[in-house]
Amino acid sequence: MHRTTWIELSSEALRHNASVVRQLAPKAAILAMVKANGYGHGANWVAEQLNSQANGFAVARLCEAMHLRDSNPQARILLLGTLLDREVLQECAQSQLDIVIHDLASAKLLANTPLATPITVWLKLNIGMNRLGMSAGEFCDAHHFLNSKSHIAGIQHMSHFSDAEEVDASLTLQQAKKLAELSASLGQHPISMANSAAIIAHPTTHCDWVRPGIMLYGDDPTQRLPAELALKPVMRFKSKIIAMRDVANGDGVGYNRRWTAAMPSRIATVAAGYADGYPRHAPDGTPVLVNGQRASLAGRVSMDLLTIDVSHLPHTAVGDEVTLWGEGLAAAEVGSHCGTISYELFTRITTRVNRYYS
Ligand SMILES: *Cc1c(COP(=O)(O)O)cnc(C)c1O
Repeated sequence: MHRTTWIELSSEALRHNASVVRQLAPKAAILAMVKANGYGHGANWVAEQLNSQANGFAVARLCEAMHLRDSNPQARILLLGTLLDREVLQECAQSQLDIVIHDLASAKLLANTPLATPITVWLKLNIGMNRLGMSAGEFCDAHHFLNSKSHIAGIQHMSHFSDAEEVDASLTLQQAKKLAELSASLGQHPISMANSAAIIAHPTTHCDWVRPGIMLYGDDPTQRLPAELALKPVMRFKSKIIAMRDVANGDGVGYNRRWTAAMPSRIATVAAGYADGYPRHAPDGTPVLVNGQRASLAGRVSMDLLTIDVSHLPHTAVGDEVTLWGEGLAAAEVGSHCGTISYELFTRITTRVNRYYS
């Protein structure tokens, strides 16, 4: 098969990363976050690979939940905070989706909406992010509105940390305490608060359900996992060199000649650009791998192409393979050059990029 610009997705790496979650949080159930098409990796593929390791899956949009449900008739699927109305609630019940209730109005609406089949709700407490979630008072009201209703199969309590990757744990532990204490005052309900960073750095926050996202895909947001628990990149973003040229001292490369040769140099042109999902704002010097060796971006990324300085790699030739991120070059490192994070890089791969699952 002819490949020009593609991603390779490794089931072995994904399952390895899930096993690290399991080791770190041996007692918690695992809710694998597969929103945004499994962080760009393919939600249905991820769900299939994690079938025996995850206890459920979570997505951010109703359309994502429906798509996942089509291929996973039995799986537990949570629809994260979204805009709810009667029709959406009925659809969630019909498709047996768990839903996050993040505001009091939705709790009231749900309390007064008869459903054909009962659903499980995850009540969300705002513990400091100030994005979604109820205040303590609203949370208790919502709990009481829904608690004894026959169309509510169960109530779980959740929250989301704002700073879980920070080295100083005090804020996260304070935030965790808010949910733990409020939940305890309402009886015995399953609790969920830990994202990847908290799974890795704050074991006391694991509670009943952990919610790993980025760590499943191979990035450790804390950068503090010991070597024996190292994660493996699931996605490898690759392309090929399609042209080579020598440039003279002072020659510019690419639009507006942003990069200028400070000495006679050799430039390789790669068949990947921002229309494939490589960030246009990547600066000169952003690393790439050519045949496994480091080289750096030279010149502005264009729609279909990017250019790299391979002066130090004299054997480079047309047809050689380039890794934009993956094994040997973490997406997080590329992201750090571009003012972004692996999450955004992964979710921006576009549809013209071929996908090879192994
Ligand atoms: C995306 C998300 C997570 C996972 O976060 P990671 O940093 O990717 O582990 C957990 N909880 C909620 C509510 C989320 O939206």
